[in-house]
Amino acid sequence: MRVLLKRVFGYDSFLPLQEEVISHLLSGGDALVLMPTGGGKSLCYQLPALVLEGLTVVVSPLISLMNDQVAQLRSNGVCAAAMHSLTSEEEMTYLRRNCLSGRLKLLYVSPERLLLELPDLMRDTTVSLFAIDEAHCISQWGHDFRPEYAQLGILKQAYPSIPVVALTATADKVTRLDIQEQLRLKDAKVFVSSFDRPNLSLDVRRGYDSKAKQRAILSFVSSHQGDSGIVYCLSRTNTETVARMLTQHGITAAPYHAGLSAEQRNKTQRDFVNDRLQVICATVAFGMGINKSNVRFVIHYNLPKSIECYYQEIGRAGRDGLPSSTILFYNLQDIVQLRHFVDESGQKDINSERLSRVVEYAEASVCRRRILLNYFGEERTHDCHNCDICNHPPRRFDGTELVQKALSAVARTKERATMRTVADILSGIYSPEVRAKHYDSLPTFAVGRNVPLRHWNDFLLQMLQLGYLEIAYDDANHLRITPQGREVLFGRQRAQLAEAREEPTRGTRKKAEAPKVMTPTLPDAAPKEDARLFERLRLLRRKLADEQGFPPFVVTSDAVLHSLAQLKPQSEEEFGEISGIGEYKRKKYASVFVKEIKAFLEA
Ligand code: ADP
Ligand code: ZN
Repeated sequence: MRVLLKRVFGYDSFLPLQEEVISHLLSGGDALVLMPTGGGKSLCYQLPALVLEGLTVVVSPLISLMNDQVAQLRSNGVCAAAMHSLTSEEEMTYLRRNCLSGRLKLLYVSPERLLLELPDLMRDTTVSLFAIDEAHCISQWGHDFRPEYAQLGILKQAYPSIPVVALTATADKVTRLDIQEQLRLKDAKVFVSSFDRPNLSLDVRRGYDSKAKQRAILSFVSSHQGDSGIVYCLSRTNTETVARMLTQHGITAAPYHAGLSAEQRNKTQRDFVNDRLQVICATVAFGMGINKSNVRFVIHYNLPKSIECYYQEIGRAGRDGLPSSTILFYNLQDIVQLRHFVDESGQKDINSERLSRVVEYAEASVCRRRILLNYFGEERTHDCHNCDICNHPPRRFDGTELVQKALSAVARTKERATMRTVADILSGIYSPEVRAKHYDSLPTFAVGRNVPLRHWNDFLLQMLQLGYLEIAYDDANHLRITPQGREVLFGRQRAQLAEAREEPTRGTRKKAEAPKVMTPTLPDAAPKEDARLFERLRLLRRKLADEQGFPPFVVTSDAVLHSLAQLKPQSEEEFGEISGIGEYKRKKYASVFVKEIKAFLEA
């Protein structure tokens, strides 16, 4: 197994649970594998496919996923193919022949195609393993239910002796049991790996209005030149606004939402995957179908509707294990809007609970990763040192006076103003609403002008969470003072607030470094990575990818590029030592990369 791991995939060691899963499958057992995105699920069936005699059939829900996987396997010299609704009759004949001859090791297939092909396939070919990727699609409880998956239960029923492995990144128990039941995998061994993604930094920013968010996003993206990222927005309009804003500042960006034509969406997705487009501004519709391993950041322009959604969306960053950033913005408008969705939804209680949990997460003052992992049932007793709370523990201060100012402004409006207007009153901003209602003549107008507007937004959100204020969702979202708020307003109780955090200054970028796990062969005194060389190699990779018509990450992962920029191999042998370079890639790419490195060193 290890020899194949190195020779074909170029890796020196397994990721957690991979080896256990593979051994179990090779011994003929069924398995259900739960690993987070980036956990290395594919290898769990790709390696057995190479060891076992015959064909491994991989069921996958999306054509783009299949194509990417096939491209990646072929780039490692493995004979693999996909069969789906876009496969021509000619190709089908060719594929059937290759299955027959035993040349093909892995066949990716959509569930409906598989059911059609099954009788012929089973008659003429030795199938060694069925792998059901994205297995949560079989469950109505999951978030991506696909009716086509529903019939896959017949596999185990009709061919009880062929092992089945089901894989998913969905953690929740109901879905898990449902998958087992529907696929008839009662005796399957269940492998659950940690859902922690230590390479993702977690950052939450509270109380930014749209302008402040856009400034912060621009500043972040500008200091991450060339790094791919996704900005998730709640509305189509926002995806377009943010994409336009970035484009105006010379960053390649495009919107992605259900209102665009399928053609347009495909093009945008392909451009993103091929590194021709740096940033995608998308509604939640985007992401499941992409296998891009080098997404370096995920930004939430709005609060997501649940922790599950949030975790899945940030999970699209850093699948290659390299450090990646996530930022979540949230403000009051998000809460108001999501609350509205909850009220409209069929399952008000559940959705309301989900929303409360994500708001609690965003408001938290303890390590964010601990909250997330505890939410998914993994107990965590130490802080992560890779979230905003760990890095900048919130400092508390006596905010009684600020709270009193805010509450008295609310009282003066007779509790008929929204949070935005109250912040305008406190800051002394002559907004249309302020003028129309003559709030500028209130004694509280501008009493808080020494505090920046964004900080007022932040403090008002805290006051909401602390229970001094509430929102009248049924009355134009006006702010109201709670009985507890009155205690503070009339000086009978004091209030503690957390200091508003300053926007991180530009240029404080921490350049991604290859973490230890990915490069176990590095000596301790490893040379430093050369950033200019990295950029040069990144360009070379893109050129090679364009020439061959597949995505850059299929040529090599970002991790490999970092190792190359660090170790600067100068012979085919040294090149082959790099983690992630198997025999096939060594032969194919060593000379061109080594040439580039030598040219760089001589320049
Ligand atoms: P998942 O399907 O679970 O999201 P993938 O199968 O796409 O994960 O793997 C995630 C990344 O980890 C890929 O870039 C893959 O090449 C890499 N990877 C997989 N196995 C190993 C390993 N044993 N050592 C190093 N990297 C690995
Ligand atoms: Zn932390």
